Amino acid sequence: MSPTRTFIAKLKEMVGQEVTIKGWVDIRRDHGKLIFIDLRDASGKVQMIALPSHAEAHKLAGTVRPEWVISVSGKVNQRPEKLVNKNEPNGEVELEILSIEVLNEALTPPIDVRSDGKEIGEEARLKYRYLDLRRPRLQKNIRNRHKIIKYIRDFLDKEGFVEIETPNLTKSTPEGSRDFIVPSRISQGKFYALPQSPQQYKQLLMAAGMEKYFQIARCFRDEDTRGDRQPEFTQLDLEMSFVEREEVMALNERLLIDIVKTLYPNKRIQTLPFPRLTYKEAMEKYGSDKPDIRTDKNDPDLLAFEWVIDFPFFEKDDKGGWTFTHNPFSRPQNEHMERLLKKEDISGILTTQYDVVLNGNEIGGGSIRNHQPEALRKVFEIMGHKAEDIERNFGHMLTAFAHGTPPHGGIAWGLDRFVTLLENEPNIREVIAFAKTGDGRDLMMDAPSEVAPEQLLELGIKIAKEK
Ligand code: ASP
Repeated sequence: MSPTRTFIAKLKEMVGQEVTIKGWVDIRRDHGKLIFIDLRDASGKVQMIALPSHAEAHKLAGTVRPEWVISVSGKVNQRPEKLVNKNEPNGEVELEILSIEVLNEALTPPIDVRSDGKEIGEEARLKYRYLDLRRPRLQKNIRNRHKIIKYIRDFLDKEGFVEIETPNLTKSTPEGSRDFIVPSRISQGKFYALPQSPQQYKQLLMAAGMEKYFQIARCFRDEDTRGDRQPEFTQLDLEMSFVEREEVMALNERLLIDIVKTLYPNKRIQTLPFPRLTYKEAMEKYGSDKPDIRTDKNDPDLLAFEWVIDFPFFEKDDKGGWTFTHNPFSRPQNEHMERLLKKEDISGILTTQYDVVLNGNEIGGGSIRNHQPEALRKVFEIMGHKAEDIERNFGHMLTAFAHGTPPHGGIAWGLDRFVTLLENEPNIREVIAFAKTGDGRDLMMDAPSEVAPEQLLELGIKIAKEK
């Protein structure tokens, strides 16, 4: 048996040679004396044939079942002309089986892993996700997601950005969504929060003089069930010092275009440079702040990007007070700064926020930030925060800004959504390896779950019994 393993994708270059391939039995077809087995590995699929003349291998070939993991040694043969399958990457060759070693058997799969999976209930797909991920559609999505992320990393590295990890155990602050909280054992009765985004850390990295930061960052938001949301999701998060809005937008536009042109050359971007709409125009013309401006909504390969800018900074909340529309750390547009500092004509204050929209989906958003402590303090005052609450929640930001923080701005993309749109998938769960259900359950791991009473005791936590 040949000691080195050959990847299936290489077989077409190895006609006439003896090789060993390893992978999963995709399907077995018995044709009387001839037994055909399709074998699958991470690189592709090939048809193998067991002939009665190799008696031992032939006998074993008759016993293998779908999803068994086997190692096969054999000879790569050119297929006879009439048996060539032009639609298969390995359709011109087949492997004549000389010997088989079974590496692991498999139970009958509870879900079909050969189809695109659209006919299978999602609960079953998520419960057996490791099987679900074997299907070609999901293999493609996850591998292409990797390519997009690698492209982003290489691009930003060339531009002088540094990827920096920021903590997942942090402080709960009122930033928009509900926090996931994590009890501290050592400081009983105190809690960490999982970050809704690295927003504060990335701004503190600008205070720290890093100048160009990015991160493929996990974000956590404890929101109520909304079909196409996940409690944890991934952002491309970035921040830059000494920049104006135009520079952040230009860099991101260039990166988005390059990703499409390099990795999805069959897709067409509707308009270049990306059109820009003010919030007012978008609402008046389309009744939406993320309008789908595609000229042909049936074309799966048409990408209509646009920027939406000039959003109001504040809007009324349900209790009649003011809240931010996007991000409390944003800076107003220069000509609106005076109004913020004087807390006048609040509904008229426009922010530097920019959202990037693709086919009617907001795939990213960011802003230039308020890097002067007084301006940031005013934002919280307008929202009705008391001085001591501002200090308790955001004192670290105000103090940092009082120590020579440069002007800065950035953006974050919803990476899951972007990949979903590029892959023409209906839902972000199709591009996340281990996705949760719409109501936040991990069916494979069975999470969330109860914990042992001793664990609660250590944390000083008692579960209030339901009445
Ligand atoms: N942190 C913001 C968000 O998660 C994005 C940004 O303004 O950079 O939406």
